[in-house]
Amino acid sequence: MTCDTSPDALSEAATEYDLIIIGAGLTGLSLVCWLLQLAEAEQTTLPRVCLLEPRTHYSNDRTWCFWDLEAHPFRGLISQRWGRWQVSQGSIVACQTDNNAAYAMLPAEALYKHALAKIANNPAFTLQLGVTVSTVQQDDDSVLVAGSVCGSTKHWQAKAVIDTRPPSNSQLSANEGCWQVFSGLEVACAKHGFDTSTAILMDFQGGYRHPCFIYLLPLDQDHFLVEWTAFQADKATPADYSADVKAWLQRQNVENFHVTRAESGSLPMMRLSKNTNSGRVLNAGVGAGWMRAATGYHFVSCQRGCAALARQILAANASDNWQLHSPQVRTRWLDWMDMVFLRALKRHPEQAPQWFVRLFAGTTAAQMSRFMNDKPYLGDAWAVASALPPAPFIRAVLPW
Ligand SMILES: Cc1cc2nc3c(=O)[nH]c(=O)nc-3n(C[C@H](O)[C@H](O)[C@H](O)COP(=O)(O)OP(=O)(O)OC[C@H]3O[C@@H](n4cnc5c(N)ncnc54)[C@H](O)[C@@H]3O)c2cc1C
Repeated sequence: MTCDTSPDALSEAATEYDLIIIGAGLTGLSLVCWLLQLAEAEQTTLPRVCLLEPRTHYSNDRTWCFWDLEAHPFRGLISQRWGRWQVSQGSIVACQTDNNAAYAMLPAEALYKHALAKIANNPAFTLQLGVTVSTVQQDDDSVLVAGSVCGSTKHWQAKAVIDTRPPSNSQLSANEGCWQVFSGLEVACAKHGFDTSTAILMDFQGGYRHPCFIYLLPLDQDHFLVEWTAFQADKATPADYSADVKAWLQRQNVENFHVTRAESGSLPMMRLSKNTNSGRVLNAGVGAGWMRAATGYHFVSCQRGCAALARQILAANASDNWQLHSPQVRTRWLDWMDMVFLRALKRHPEQAPQWFVRLFAGTTAAQMSRFMNDKPYLGDAWAVASALPPAPFIRAVLPW
């Protein structure tokens, strides 16, 4: 990216749009693709949309995995599916199989490329890279956004704003949950020997201060993605587990391997306080609490939230009434169940391996995939609750 520092580019007059999307990550780009898909299906006019994003280029920085049960604009980009998944602790293994509800992987690179091409090919959309938004000011009939571009302040004006920035520290209820901290490596290793038909969701490792597990996705006979994950009280101690991944590979006698890509993250497994629920400025994505606190999964709820928001935005554009409402991506009782689970996990972290193995051993694949994708039937939730030991969870209903 080059910085356009011409007087025109840096002029104080705010550029006007119908909608500004702050952040062009998963949520910002998904929203664009849903807007395009629904506008085409319903033959409605697209609003003029501007996306503001600090990064200056995109890289293959993550993979999104989820149970592929619902339609979304990126289905054709799924690179891998596993009809079998397992959770284990030592020799105790809980395995589930369902080829109709496969665990799917979608590389970020493919989604970014797809969405950026859609933006480039449609004059309704403008993507401005290298922009870090600092303030968002709402008045009666418009919103003013200020951000820095190459060290200078610039302004944008719109009828409404969708803000997909990550949550601020003040939004997180850190005393109620923990952090899911992970480091992953994509590895090339001829004939690695892992079973390519099974996704290993959690293989708990003993002897650590926090619950730690290996997540292993065999891509083919010569490639796999392996991650070390810890549930810990603090986001940053340590935030890099790549040495643990390599030590684990050594213990599995995986030799002569070559790391082709690395990814890492710290996901808040805790409740978020929401900034706004309605009006011209709405939060969306992880910053709006769309990510499932008890699992760290977000892709599916993000698609659901973006579909609902896109419908509202197209209707707002048609009626010129820009009062938007936060979509509810999950039922309140599921959020409540998760809060009880997280409270119990925080009080008894040493029980995590046993609880997760019991959860996958005591439910069916169909129940678990619906539950993990935030759309359980009541019977699924009952099966999940029945698979866990009652005492710690009944106690965790009480916040003290
Ligand atoms: C490595 C990794 C792997 C993950 N794997 C999975 C998975 O397998 N399955 C799953 O469901 N979830 C997964 N997640 C969780 C979640 O799906 C992702 O974090 C997802 O990218 C979050 O979407 P988002 O749009 O809320 O945030 P992001 O994708 O991070 O997008 C937010 C955007 O806001 C931009 N931004 C930040 N500050 C500003 C600012 N001041 N001004 C303007 N823009 C700003 C950022 O640059 C970014 O592009 C993973 C997360 C990580 C980090």
